[in-house]
Amino acid sequence: MRSPNPIQCVVPDYVLVDIARRGDEEDREAALSTLAVSTTLRSARSQAEAVRSAMGMPIAAAAGLREPSMNRVIRDARTGVDTGSPIVRKEGDGSIGDAATDEAFDHFGTTWKFFFEVLARNSIDNAGMTLDGVVHFGKKVDNAFWDGDQMLFGDGSGKLFTRLTKSLSVCAHELGHGVIQFDGPLVYQGQSGALNEHIADAFGAMVHQWARDETAAEADWLVGAEILAEGVRGKALRSMKEPGTAFDDPRLGKDRQPAHMKDLVVTAADNGGVHINSGIPNRAFFEIASALGGRSWERAGRILYATLGHEQLRPHADFRQFARLNHRMAGQLFGVGSTEADAVANGWAAVGVEI
Ligand SMILES: [Zn+2]
Repeated sequence: MRSPNPIQCVVPDYVLVDIARRGDEEDREAALSTLAVSTTLRSARSQAEAVRSAMGMPIAAAAGLREPSMNRVIRDARTGVDTGSPIVRKEGDGSIGDAATDEAFDHFGTTWKFFFEVLARNSIDNAGMTLDGVVHFGKKVDNAFWDGDQMLFGDGSGKLFTRLTKSLSVCAHELGHGVIQFDGPLVYQGQSGALNEHIADAFGAMVHQWARDETAAEADWLVGAEILAEGVRGKALRSMKEPGTAFDDPRLGKDRQPAHMKDLVVTAADNGGVHINSGIPNRAFFEIASALGGRSWERAGRILYATLGHEQLRPHADFRQFARLNHRMAGQLFGVGSTEADAVANGWAAVGVEI
C-alpha cells in the first residue's frame, strides 16, 4: 500500500528519485506524484523562508508553514449573539446565496491569500489557524469585531452603516488584529493601542489595494468605504491619506483623526484615543508608501510587517519608539541609508515624529 499522506513521509527526495528511476511503473508513478506535491509545498515554504529571512524574521517561524491551504468556517447567528451558531458555509462549499455569508467567506479568502502570498504567513497565527466568522451577529449591529478567536459581523442598522461584510478592508482590518495579537502584541491603550489600530488599518488598505492591484498613487487609502449607509455624509470610516476627512455627518459626527503630532488628542475615551490618534501613524505610512511609489505592500508593507514581528517591539511602544524600529527594519531589509530607510524617516518626520 502507498502512504496515504506523502507530505508527512520521512522519505527524502533522493530516495523518491531513485524509486522513480529504478522502480516499476506503479512505483515510479507514486514516487513522481509524491515529489510533485512535496516540491510544490517546498517551493512555497522556501519562498516563505526567503521572505522571512529577508525580513529579519526567525526562519523557525516559516518552518511551521505546512500545507498552504486555507480553512474558512462561517456561522450564522441569525441576529442573535451565539458565536457557536450553526455552520452555514465551510471550506469547499459553494456560494449559499446569503450575501453576508458569501462576502465574509470571499473576503476571508482574499485576506488569507494576501497574508500567504505577500507576507509568507500561514493564516492569522502563522500556523494554519481556521478563519472563523459569524455573520448576522446581533440585531442591526453597526460593527464588526475580532474577539480574539474569530470575526463577528453585524448587519448594520442601515442608518449609519450597511452590512459590515461588504467591505474587504474592514474584514482585513479585523483579521489584521488577529495577526497583531500573535506577533505584537501592542497593548490596546494610548499610543500602543493607536499603533495597533494603525497596523490593522494598513492591512485593511493593503489587502484592498492588492486585490485590485493598485499602486500607492492610484489607491484611495480609505478603510470601510463600502459600509457607510446611504445618505451618510462621508466617504469611509477612515482615510489614511487625509485623516480627519473621512466623514462629517450629523448622525455619525465628524472624523476626529489627527494627521500630525501637534494635534495628538489627549482623551480617556476610546481607550485613550486608539481609533483617533491612529491617524498619525496612518498618515506616516501613506507618506512612506507614496514616496516609494509602486505597490504599498512591496516595500512599505514589508517594512511594517517586519517591525510588527520584531522581538524588540514593546507592548507599550509609543509612536517614536515604533518609528525608530520601523526605520531600523527598513535599513535591515533594504540597506542603511537606502531610499527605503530615508522614506521611512521622512514619512515619520512629516507627521511630527522625529526618529
Ligand atoms: Zn480595529
